[in-house]
Amino acid sequence: MNTEQMLQEAADFLKEHDDFLVLTHVQPDGDALGSTLGLAHLLEAWGKRFVIACEEPVPDRFTFLPMNEQIRLASELNRKFTNLVALDCGDLQRLGGCSALLEENAAILNIDHHKTNDSFGKVNLVDLESAATSQIVYNLARHMRTDIRREMAICLYTGILTDTGGFRYSNTTVEVHRIAADLLSAGVSPYDIADRVFETLSWSQALLIREALGALQRDETGKVAWIVVNRELLKRVGASDEDVEGLVSYARNIQGVEVGILFREKAEGVVKVSFRSKYQVDVGEIALFFGGGGHARAAGCTIEGSIEQIQSDVLAKVRESLRS
Ligand code: 5GP
Ligand code: MN
Repeated sequence: MNTEQMLQEAADFLKEHDDFLVLTHVQPDGDALGSTLGLAHLLEAWGKRFVIACEEPVPDRFTFLPMNEQIRLASELNRKFTNLVALDCGDLQRLGGCSALLEENAAILNIDHHKTNDSFGKVNLVDLESAATSQIVYNLARHMRTDIRREMAICLYTGILTDTGGFRYSNTTVEVHRIAADLLSAGVSPYDIADRVFETLSWSQALLIREALGALQRDETGKVAWIVVNRELLKRVGASDEDVEGLVSYARNIQGVEVGILFREKAEGVVKVSFRSKYQVDVGEIALFFGGGGHARAAGCTIEGSIEQIQSDVLAKVRESLRS
């Protein structure tokens, strides 16, 4: 199916149904929230009823996104839904506890750009060429001839900005810049958004960076670098889970490093692993091997076990991938 056909199927799904549950993945990032709220604005423009939910509250740095105050926690909702739109989720596990809000045979529209997406929807609008799920929502809004107002534009621009690392990653294309320019024409202030999402550190985040860089390690080949953040460290500096986001770049960005890894102890015996690569290694495949997923250059997974064991298993897998 080509992109136009997928867009048409998705548009039909939205037009034919009503009373949607709109969901995104656990630990939502800029694209998760931007695409979800962008779609919510689209549904609003079409006069549809919807409820937006997420496993966790919106991180502080994204509370400027218009309509974010309407995002409910799964635990607050005491009803189920038959129509779901899932955004930026490679698989249903990514919904976390929100999957309990679905009726047995709910109809799902899956809008995503992850190469590990397993087509879990009744309708799948999955475009691996898009830099961000927000870019797909932009194309859907255009396809449906929906007026892109400033509020929607702010959400979509934020998603594109964060998933391209501020227009720096290899997914940055002519198309991305054209869309960004169009969103600026709709009234987005690029300085304000960049300042909020990239240039502002909470004090606890600054303390975390200070400590985490002290724990930065590199292997003997110089091609792999990693940082381990355990519970004790997070507690000591008063950092929240969202403060950890972005730390992995320090490992990846070192000259000569191909793969940067962040190990974050979420709870005793539960470790979230984030991968970033530069040119060769498909970290999406590595994350998939450990039960997660993502893109070729950015991926993640959650593994159970001791942090030492996980570290050694993951490093072995990364080295194997570097050799091949
Ligand atoms: P991060 O390391 O920043 O959490 O995620 C990097 C990329 O990998 C994001 O696109 C994210 O959606 C994806 N990702 C992270 N963790 C998982 C996971 O456990 N499963 C899947 N399918 N994708 C993940
Ligand atoms: Mn994304």
